[in-house]
Amino acid sequence: MKNTAEIFGENVFSESVMRERLPKATFKEVKNAIYKGHRLSPEVANVVANEMKQWAIEKGCTHYTHWFQPMTGITAEKHDSFISPADEGKVILTFSGKELTQGEPDASSFPSGGLRATFEARGYTAWDPTSFAFVKEGVLCIPTAFCSYGGEALDKKTPLLRSMEAINKQALRVLKLFGNDDVERVNTTVGPEQEYFLIDSEGYNARKDLIYTGRTLFGATPPKGQQMEDHYFGVIKPRVQAFMKDLNDELWKLGILATTEHNEVAPSQHELAPIFTTTNLATDHNQLTMEIMKKVAQKHGLVCLLHEKPFAGVNGSGKHNNWSISTDTGINLLEPGDTPYENAQFLLFLTAIIRAVDDYQDLLRISVASAGNDHRLGANEAPPAVISIFLGSELTEILDSIENDTPYGAKEKELLKVGVHVLPKFPKDTTDRNRTSPFAFTGNKFEFRMLGSSASVALPNTVLNTAVAEILMQYADVLEGASDFTAALHDLIKSEIKAHKRIIFNGNGYDDAWIAEAEKRGLSNLKATPDAVAHYLDKKNVDLFTSHKVYSEIEMQSRHEVFLDKYCKLLHIEAMTMLEMAKQDILPAVSSYSSTLAENILSKDQLGIKSEFESKTLEDISADMKTAYEAYEALSASIVKVEEEEDLVAKADTYKDTVKEQMEALRTACDKLETETAAEFWPFPTYGELLFAVR
Ligand code: ADP
Ligand code: MG
Repeated sequence: MKNTAEIFGENVFSESVMRERLPKATFKEVKNAIYKGHRLSPEVANVVANEMKQWAIEKGCTHYTHWFQPMTGITAEKHDSFISPADEGKVILTFSGKELTQGEPDASSFPSGGLRATFEARGYTAWDPTSFAFVKEGVLCIPTAFCSYGGEALDKKTPLLRSMEAINKQALRVLKLFGNDDVERVNTTVGPEQEYFLIDSEGYNARKDLIYTGRTLFGATPPKGQQMEDHYFGVIKPRVQAFMKDLNDELWKLGILATTEHNEVAPSQHELAPIFTTTNLATDHNQLTMEIMKKVAQKHGLVCLLHEKPFAGVNGSGKHNNWSISTDTGINLLEPGDTPYENAQFLLFLTAIIRAVDDYQDLLRISVASAGNDHRLGANEAPPAVISIFLGSELTEILDSIENDTPYGAKEKELLKVGVHVLPKFPKDTTDRNRTSPFAFTGNKFEFRMLGSSASVALPNTVLNTAVAEILMQYADVLEGASDFTAALHDLIKSEIKAHKRIIFNGNGYDDAWIAEAEKRGLSNLKATPDAVAHYLDKKNVDLFTSHKVYSEIEMQSRHEVFLDKYCKLLHIEAMTMLEMAKQDILPAVSSYSSTLAENILSKDQLGIKSEFESKTLEDISADMKTAYEAYEALSASIVKVEEEEDLVAKADTYKDTVKEQMEALRTACDKLETETAAEFWPFPTYGELLFAVR
């Protein structure tokens, strides 16, 4: 058997594989493409393609695909074979540089948000050499960007790459001011921690709601949920352990460094954390991780649920986006450092992030908005919809003393001068770290915790990178012209803290008092997806993205439409699933049970025996069936009406304000019926059966 070191990355056409297999000159050009953004010449592309094909064939591949991330949020692939006809009825295996670098999937069935109406319907995919090709299930996968022929991005990856360029450019300007002349490239890094549920496939297969929507739309609260908190970090069950081992092996083969794994708070909930990497790679890896989790689960008779809120009343699943900025010389810019200069540089980047988060609260909220995540934000154990930053008491005190020109700490006599004094050491890993903050500083990185578990990390990081790039640009503009750099730096940090400290909050983010306080501070609280998305096209947001060339205005308009369209479609599917389950499964089951009760009452009556239980239950059930049926009728009627609405904004609002409430009413009525109906009549597995089946 191979050991971990041997299997790690064995299915990746990585830098080391390329170094080994490509001619020296070709390898050098590929490296320039990866690290310096150079274009590959057709000749070089041909050499790379041929070697890549050879390597893939050795791994048993017969097909290749351009692997991309359309606006659906999941990945897409269209397999093409290497086979070309040759003389005498034979075939040869071919793969040219052109096939490597450019593909033409039929773009017409991917969401384009109206771009298709204005532009060429076709789209093309272009190799992103910064992300390595890999083999998955006998197919050579080539990570690509997906664009329309007009050049508009139709995917999530292209804007992310553009945002990485934007922050690189501005961060380099700032670093030059601090004398870091050796730095040639600045990258953001991401390590997304992934939460998920694992349930038995038998229970899953018996639930239409799980099959169609990934979450339960009905289900009464079981006697046991997560009250005992006995699952969190608890012993991992053998079946789950076997799944995790297999999952790690599969991920390692793809060069994905999954490291820690543990149980989460809810029963059947778990978490996987990878080692961080450059943002675009981390994005690809997280997509692959989610896909492979589902496949590996299947092999173990399990189903992996990535939905943000698969079960009402127990914790939902999130994704913690650990984010930092580092240089090609290996320096993490969010690491405070030891010298006054390093400290000052750290404080400037920190201030830029505080300002960026404050100025673009709405965009960060939008970046995590989805119908699924709406169930989670603000619910049990999840961050509220209000964005705030946790810095910890030590760092907050330091900022306070800079802002107010007051001495830091009890003993210090001197005032803290940025760029002159060494910052006092503060503990890197404070154990009382705030778990309720949506955006927390954790010693040398920020953890953005609002992401839903099923989301792509592309958009949140596109927003973060671009917003921070904008502020760094403004800072560089000020500081490049300063005659006394250190004094200007101190003043800038001081005034910025004063202007943006409202976004800093170290207390309990789940506390109702905080929501009131946040409102006083003027922080935004965009509760549902349509509320948030309504701000996407605000002038300041369009200005931000267009000025850094991350999105054009047209691309933003198209994405605005995709957001709302997706929201409406999702709720439509959920509502239709509920209607079907209510009418075809729940109400008929309850009706049968009622008949049984009625028959029992009659036969007991003939024998002169009283039937208190049966009579009372039949009465209750009959009343509750009426309520449920009325809720069914109301939802049914309003679904027809809302689908006739042509204005997308109005449609999304109706789903949010009316349809969701009616769905809730139908659920409440049916869940009540579940508690009243004999178990043998209930048509599908209950919460208790779903949540505690894996042993
Ligand atoms: P914590 O104790 O805060 O959970 P860990 O060191 O376990 O910290 O890291 C949690 C996640 O953060 C991991 O996925 C890790 O790879 C990621 N991470 C650590 N450092 C960085 C960084 N500089 N940039 C991005 N992600 C990081
Ligand atoms: Mg975490």
